[in-house]
Amino acid sequence: MSKEDNMAKALPGYGTIDVPKDRVVPFGAVTPAPVGTQKLFQTSNWRVVRPVKDEEKCTRCLQCYLACPDACWVYKEEDDTLEWVGDFCKGCQVCIAQCTVDGALVAAPELDFEGGVVRLEKPF
Ligand code: SF4
Ligand code: SF4
Repeated sequence: MSKEDNMAKALPGYGTIDVPKDRVVPFGAVTPAPVGTQKLFQTSNWRVVRPVKDEEKCTRCLQCYLACPDACWVYKEEDDTLEWVGDFCKGCQVCIAQCTVDGALVAAPELDFEGGVVRLEKPF
């Protein structure tokens, strides 16, 4: 059996699952996906809190940017700004947990916002 045929089996600690040859993805590979914003896969509609940044306290350490699983933070180097993209934020608060400055990023209830997800006519 070639190295490629046995790729999934060779990974230590992953058991012995037989993966069809055409489905094997090399370890560390990126799964191909359409590039760009996925308008039909919005993950914000079950959010009950959102991260709110205190501009005075934020040091632009970018830990929130690195930690967000949905790429909701956009850093613009030209003006050193860090923008939150709410369409895909599900309120998981991972960014808040990773923030390095006490109080720079806090969770605020969606109810506090005029256009908050919980106020939408059809949030789900
Ligand atoms: S709450 Fe979760 S999804 Fe929203 S910006 Fe933070 S890490 Fe990303
Ligand atoms: S992790 Fe906190 S301090 Fe760092 S850039 Fe994000 S909000 Fe600012």
